Amino acid sequence: MLELKVYNTLARKKEIFAPIKAGQVGMYSCGPTVYKPAHIGNLRAYVFMDELRRIFEYSGYKVKSVMNITDVGHLVSDGDDGDDKMSKSARETGKDPLEIAAEITDRFMADIDSLNIKRPTVCPKATDNIPEMIAVVQALLDNGYAYETADGIYFSVEKFAGYGKLSGVKLEDQRHGARVEVNSFKRHPIDFALWKKAAPNHLQQWDSPWGRGFPGWHIECTAMSRKYLGETFDIHTGGVDHIPIHHENEIAQAECWLGHKAVNYWMHNEFMLIDGGKMSKSLNNVYTVADVVAKGYTPMELRYLYLNVQYRQKLNFTWAAMDAAKSAYNKLCGLLLAHKNGVVKTDKAALDEYRRKFEEAITDDLNVPLALGVLWTMLKLPKSADVYNLALDFDKIFALDFDKVKEEEKPQIVIPEDVKAMAELRLAARRAKNWAESDRLRDVIAYMGYAIKDTADGYELTLK
Ligand code: AMP
Ligand code: ZN
Repeated sequence: MLELKVYNTLARKKEIFAPIKAGQVGMYSCGPTVYKPAHIGNLRAYVFMDELRRIFEYSGYKVKSVMNITDVGHLVSDGDDGDDKMSKSARETGKDPLEIAAEITDRFMADIDSLNIKRPTVCPKATDNIPEMIAVVQALLDNGYAYETADGIYFSVEKFAGYGKLSGVKLEDQRHGARVEVNSFKRHPIDFALWKKAAPNHLQQWDSPWGRGFPGWHIECTAMSRKYLGETFDIHTGGVDHIPIHHENEIAQAECWLGHKAVNYWMHNEFMLIDGGKMSKSLNNVYTVADVVAKGYTPMELRYLYLNVQYRQKLNFTWAAMDAAKSAYNKLCGLLLAHKNGVVKTDKAALDEYRRKFEEAITDDLNVPLALGVLWTMLKLPKSADVYNLALDFDKIFALDFDKVKEEEKPQIVIPEDVKAMAELRLAARRAKNWAESDRLRDVIAYMGYAIKDTADGYELTLK
């Protein structure tokens, strides 16, 4: 089993990974809110989730990966006011929230499949786990960490001494800070909703000990991660935007509910930027996988782009960068093919050294770009199937379809009967050693738009 170093946001440093159960990893990743298709920025979070899992599996661990599907309760505002994203989308489209959720979930799964992101072991839906969430909220009320107001159940951040340990947020700054607080029911401005009481016309609502309502967003991850991974689990992932609110709140809920540490390693991917800035609807730059494919790129070329930047660095997406990824990926495939057909034997010690450098890169906090660099250097070796076979092993991490590289297929052409007849006449002339007639028929065939090449057992016709 390889030793892995991972950057733990909670510890603010790289640490050597130590599993709770020997040889096993339990990881939870915040999944999509299925009210609109994922954009290529969101998908960076899932490429990261996938790389992490693949590195553990390559190293010999058995991985259980859990990713939730948020199909209720993700409020539009962090201030716990207004609608949730599913209901808003349902009203805008006139569809049922669960119909939208099903459509968007299918599309999300197709997107991750196209990018070779392994499907998580379990993808629980929030709406299938409402009783589990209610039980956690009730426990937090019972042990005094939560309180009821006219519009819901809130978590009291001042009751939890550890609040802010992930992001460094200070409660005092939040009270006196610039944020305008509009929810007057809360005891502290950053107390957050565990459960919201629903108006009669609210689209998604369930019975609870506090009347009809729907869960807060943070509670679903706390309830579902425990259900599938146990009270304390190894790794929790998500984008850096989740550090100050969603994950800080998850820690508060879970630790106050359970009375002990909830997650050992918190890992966060940096953002993808577009043209150096944020993606936004107003700038018309919120691209999906389908948008990228429509512009003539393949999902593998997009995956190659993701892999070129280490997950803790910002990744700037531009169409020029996509062009560069396309040509680099295709050049890589060309080199791989040349090695696949190569006849040179490569020295085992040399191959072992490349494997060592590759493993050193991937186990150092997922330095996949460096691992790609090792591959490029290795491909400069004389053309050898041994090199290709080692590259296939590296592809357990890259997942760039190295096993599918093959010669461009020649387009199949249908040769007209009259051209074939001329070719047969020419073959007969050649066999009779009538070179003048053979040359004349070659010219006729050329005039008809075809080129003829002699082969051992006859001829080959191609378009001129
Ligand atoms: P959401 O559906 O908004 O909860 O986002 C799904 C995942 O994508 C979360 O882990 C976010 O942190 C992450 N994410 C959102 N936008 C970006 C971005 N531009 N770059 C990278 N990750 C992102
Ligand atoms: Zn979450």
